[in-house]
Amino acid sequence: MDLVGAALDLLARLDGGRPDSPDQAAEWAAELRPVVRALARAYYADGESPVGDTQYDRLFHALREVEERWPELQTPDSPTQRVGGTPLGGFAKVEHPVPLLSLGNAFDAGDLRDWVGRVMKGLDGVLAEGERPAFVAELKIDGLALALTYRDGVLARAATRGNGRVGEDVTANVRTIRAVPLRLADAGGGAAVPERVEVRGEAFMARSAFEALNERLAEAGVKPLANPRNGAVGSLRQLDSAVTAERGLSFAAYGLGPVAGAAVPDRQSAVLDWLDALGVPTGPARDVFDDIDQLVAFCEHWAGHRDTLDLEIDGVVVKVDRVDYQDVLGQVSTAPRWAVAFKFPAREATTRLVGIEHNVGRTGVIKPLAVLAPVEVGGVTVSKATLHNADYITSRDIRVGDDVVVKRAGDVIPAVVGPVSDDPDRGSEPYVPPTECPVCGRPLVRPEGEADLRHRDGGCPAQLTRAVEHWAARNALDVDGLGSKGAAILVDQGLVEDLPDLYRLDRDDLLALDGFKDKKADNLLAGLEASKGRPLARLLFGLGIRHVGETVARELVAHHESLDALAASEGEALEAIDGIGPIVAESVVAWFQEPANRSTVEGLREAGLNLERLPSERVAVEADADAPLAGVTVVLTGTLPTMTRPQAKAKIEEAGGKVSGSVSKKTGFVVAGDAAGSKLDKATELGVPHVDEAGLLSVLDGAPLPGRPEAPAEDAAADDRQPADPQPAGATADDDGPAPQGDLFSS
Ligand code: NAD
Repeated sequence: MDLVGAALDLLARLDGGRPDSPDQAAEWAAELRPVVRALARAYYADGESPVGDTQYDRLFHALREVEERWPELQTPDSPTQRVGGTPLGGFAKVEHPVPLLSLGNAFDAGDLRDWVGRVMKGLDGVLAEGERPAFVAELKIDGLALALTYRDGVLARAATRGNGRVGEDVTANVRTIRAVPLRLADAGGGAAVPERVEVRGEAFMARSAFEALNERLAEAGVKPLANPRNGAVGSLRQLDSAVTAERGLSFAAYGLGPVAGAAVPDRQSAVLDWLDALGVPTGPARDVFDDIDQLVAFCEHWAGHRDTLDLEIDGVVVKVDRVDYQDVLGQVSTAPRWAVAFKFPAREATTRLVGIEHNVGRTGVIKPLAVLAPVEVGGVTVSKATLHNADYITSRDIRVGDDVVVKRAGDVIPAVVGPVSDDPDRGSEPYVPPTECPVCGRPLVRPEGEADLRHRDGGCPAQLTRAVEHWAARNALDVDGLGSKGAAILVDQGLVEDLPDLYRLDRDDLLALDGFKDKKADNLLAGLEASKGRPLARLLFGLGIRHVGETVARELVAHHESLDALAASEGEALEAIDGIGPIVAESVVAWFQEPANRSTVEGLREAGLNLERLPSERVAVEADADAPLAGVTVVLTGTLPTMTRPQAKAKIEEAGGKVSGSVSKKTGFVVAGDAAGSKLDKATELGVPHVDEAGLLSVLDGAPLPGRPEAPAEDAAADDRQPADPQPAGATADDDGPAPQGDLFSS
């Protein structure tokens, strides 16, 4: 069995309990040890994560538990007895004068409190009566540890942690990291630069740098990296430091190794301040606590706010603040007793892809959904995950039967990142996108330029069910008593073939349905009645026109007093509305041209639904026709000498103009400041005039608008294809994505 298969197998066995006899324990240790060792090798030497960190931690801790209960089973080469991995070839070896250790883990508040309890016990007799020792909490950045040696303030050597005692000399590569000072600053306040100091910290790749790197790799046809840690490890281990330089690594210090020629601060919190003063960056947040509840609250706060940072953190490191107390506490073989890592649940896990389902969305889009062997990711059991679209599956060569990495970050819907193995001969069959709808059997099409497969026409019961659900949703017509189950029953029983049919339902129809008793039927009828008077924008959103999300619907209604007025609008008139681009305009016009949709509108009218703008709805404010910039769209680019962007925008709007973020042939003129970029190029290309700040000020004062040079007609026409809508194709307006998050979690 391959490594991942063996690891998943062992994880499944851990769920069934622990060994209870020495023989059983010996068997467990013999099976766990090679798997943990091989996973650690992949992680430390190759920067890969064959399974999620939480999954690895479970295996590691199971092995440690067995070894602790039956110490005779412990071997000197057990992975529980070592830090990190063997140093790689290709780099000179560096012996660390003082080993770089690992950290013990706390997986929840209870573990953290237990650790505090052990610290207090360890300091028994040292603490004064009633003394509460202080703890420093620092963010645990997910990268790799470095030891930077400065001699007389100059960076002399940078080494990886390696196995803790021997690391790799990566000085040339580390010199390219901008955050690593090549020379220390004078710490000031009489604390001169030490003769020799070893700064310890984490090299990492910011999330933005990681995304940019993956984009470049994808463009070059290279497999994307799974996470920023992989990016950091891979980039630092480049034999060509020019490649490391391109990768945009960063660094944050968290401690000291040996120091000579300077007094070292006597508290961890002061060490961090001292490092800051020497010009070495430290992590983005830290605090000192003597109150354990507040310490726990800090850890839990960051567990919930990790996505607010442009870097990956996988926990909070808690350290005893006083260095003399640290010395009293000492260390175990691989980790200090005075520090602990409060680990967040990993956001990635590996599991088997059991199948791929195809769901039909309300606009007829087919969304592939992964069916997974249930796995815990980020503290939640996941059994379904999005696969986005057919292109996504084929570009990553994801196949049913593969072991795949599943990612769940924050509130984002879980997604399959890719298969663990990219061997084309791995025994699974490549994915073939469906040619017909799995529900109704109608043929599917893939419109040019789109990533999704879709129904060409309506009529699919699954699509209709989703359309009814959407119509009834709270932000649409808010039909009380109608949820996804009810929608499916009404469609399956043939009672609803189009939205107006909802309003033709009577009590007897409903009572004849399974599960509909008096109260439920009355509720639904009352809910439908109440929905008749909803604001027009919500009805328009509820119709489910492609690209018409809530914001676009409100904007369209602000410019039209009724649904009929909107239906009669030409595409050009719609495009003239701020925030409505050609894609949205075309979609709206096409929707109203479709006879089936016109009959839906007529049916709704007959049923008594409100098709007029209500007085409470926003009406477009007509600009003062005499204002200097009435009806003119202006684009700002570059830095203006005296005005900030918001100031310039406010002045333009006061003068009746509109500010847009992108240049098109509708743009009146561009205001270009220093370092103006592609927008100015685009304006020149389209023949749109541009002025500087002084030019803008004179127009605001009533000077004539800048003249438009003759534009080459073809170039201008090309811009018609650019969506100006803030919600372009594929964005949230086309709310046809996978099922809501709740449906994707099995618990
Ligand atoms: P660790 O990464 O959990 O903790 C020690 C490291 O934390 C230090 O070396 C340092 O680099 C880092 N760190 C970040 N911020 C710090 C701060 N403020 N103060 C001190 N240290 C800080 O321990 P480890 O031994 O390097 O790695 C073990 C972990 O690696 C496991 O818990 C697991 O999550 C992961 N791992 C995963 C796999 C896999 O297959 N997914 C395999 C092996 C290891």
